[in-house]
Amino acid sequence: MSQESKIKVLPPLVVRKIAAGEVVERPASVVKELLDNAVDSGATHITVEIKSGGKELIRVTDNGCGIAAHELTLAITPHATSKIVDDNDLFAIQSMGFRGEALASISAVARMKIVSRTAEDDEAHEIQVEAEEVKSSHATGAPPGTTIEVRDLFFNVPARRAFLRTPSTETGHINEQFTRTALAYPSVAFELINNGRTTHQLPASENRLERLSRFYGPELASAFMHTERNERDVYLDAYTAPPTHSRATPSWQYTFVNGRFIRDRFVQHAVREAYRGLMEPKRHGVAFIFIQVDPKTIDVNVHPTKIEIRWQDSRLIHSQVLSALRETFQQADLTPTFRPQPQTPVDPAQQQQVREQMAQLLKQTAPIVPGQSPPNGGGFGSPSSDRFGASGQMGSHQSSNPVEQWEALYRPNDSQQPTNEYGGSPQPGMPVSPLSPDQPHRAIQLHNMYLVSETEEGIIIIDQHALHERIMYEQLRDRIATGSLESQRLLLPETIQATEAQMALIEEHAQLLEKLGIEATRFGDDSIAVHSFPAILKTIEVPPFITDLLDRLANLPAGTTTEVVIHDLLDMMACKAAVKAGDTLTDVEIEALLEQRHLVEKSSSCPHGRPTTLRLSKADLNKQFKRT
Ligand code: ADP
Ligand code: MG
Repeated sequence: MSQESKIKVLPPLVVRKIAAGEVVERPASVVKELLDNAVDSGATHITVEIKSGGKELIRVTDNGCGIAAHELTLAITPHATSKIVDDNDLFAIQSMGFRGEALASISAVARMKIVSRTAEDDEAHEIQVEAEEVKSSHATGAPPGTTIEVRDLFFNVPARRAFLRTPSTETGHINEQFTRTALAYPSVAFELINNGRTTHQLPASENRLERLSRFYGPELASAFMHTERNERDVYLDAYTAPPTHSRATPSWQYTFVNGRFIRDRFVQHAVREAYRGLMEPKRHGVAFIFIQVDPKTIDVNVHPTKIEIRWQDSRLIHSQVLSALRETFQQADLTPTFRPQPQTPVDPAQQQQVREQMAQLLKQTAPIVPGQSPPNGGGFGSPSSDRFGASGQMGSHQSSNPVEQWEALYRPNDSQQPTNEYGGSPQPGMPVSPLSPDQPHRAIQLHNMYLVSETEEGIIIIDQHALHERIMYEQLRDRIATGSLESQRLLLPETIQATEAQMALIEEHAQLLEKLGIEATRFGDDSIAVHSFPAILKTIEVPPFITDLLDRLANLPAGTTTEVVIHDLLDMMACKAAVKAGDTLTDVEIEALLEQRHLVEKSSSCPHGRPTTLRLSKADLNKQFKRT
């Protein structure tokens, strides 16, 4: 008896829609693919026009080679390409495209119009396609080159359309794609028009620095150090900013290989190593790295959007980038930036010592051995740095770890260490402020929950969690006010299962998360990869935190302002990072906590409105004991 098969071959359009999902995730992916094609066409002038973040319209016009009329339908056919012929060509890719997938994928999920004319033809030809179906095809007038118009992206994939973000978010992503292509091809003139307004007009230039300057401004451009090296078949052209321009996230590091923007952990690592010791360990250098190699030595066919490549010899790339940048940094005589407090006299001899040590750090890969460190640990450390044992970061102990050395060298005067700034011992010669009547003299911990202390006025009882949470919140708020939170790159990204809605949330709030020191991206169809995490949360497990955070983001009341969201999230971070009720604290930790108490002195409630401190005055006590 014949049975109906449960397994069926999917209809072609469904197959295409599935495939399109890999290449076309959002309007910016369409822009990327169309820009790639325009660059491949040999154009010298490319214009991108978008409306409503690309949701309504994306139009890319080039003056390149054009597509012959009889080939227009071929161009939108899956796996049809003019760029490779056989599998051997896969290892000699000179073009941006080669998969023959983009136009087919886009035309499966949008309304597309192509107008194109080759140099040989007298007139242009136009086709209109909707969900793969050619709706019209006729001759028309247009100059040589190609215009591809994409309207109503995902009109036939409602689930995807629903998850597109606000026009401004989508425009942000498009801007990023535009920037990447325009940086890779300075000799091509580019234009970006957003809702009828020209936002970028970039003339062709043989000078990469000039193009960088257009995007990032003359100030950064003039600060760049230039590295050019051609060794062992690796041509490197790099623009790196001095450590003074460091950023809180690595998002200012761009890598291009053979004209393609890629993410590459080997290059990223080399850049980080080159900057090591020159800036705070948690900061990131600004670096634009352009690499040219023989296409045979890379595999670009490892990712549908070609954002990753595989190197034949990744160690060679790593060592070329690292040694070239190191050399540049050494020649540039980068003096580490000091941020001493005005009242701290800087001893020139010590400063010299520090410079020498930094130079040494640069020269050697191996960590400095303790014996080579200056006898006092190299610090400008005020005596108070010894007292802040709780953070585990400071103190004058000698360390063989360059990161710790850095901290020892620079932390004591860094205003981001509030204990030192506020709770530290007075500098010699500075007036000693009188003890506040509320300042606890010493404290004991009770029930691993409360700190009880004597003050001049009586007794205070502190809720250790509430106080610490409050202090953290204040510190985080201060830092956010002046920039982003310090972020720490995870050695291996943490992946977390997520729904489409959660992935969309991550994307929608990418900028906000970046401000908080979190970098997370989609990972496959059902996960999120967390790449960076706030340094302050280093003791916290990433997945549960991110899940909580997503819950909060998903449940924001309509119309919540970014500011409110940030403070809500800071509140959550402070709560998670703070010591808990039930944690046993060491004497040093108790002392550190009390030292920072004045930070929240003015209001003694935790962010949730709970009090942090109860006060019992001597008068209260006397009254209770009927001493009056
Ligand atoms: P791929 O770029 O991988 O070849 P696409 O689907 O992006 O695949 O494009 C299919 C083909 O259409 C290209 O190989 C090219 O021949 C042609 N084509 C697409 N866009 C342009 C353009 N702007 N100018 C000239 N030819 C184009
Ligand atoms: Mg293409």
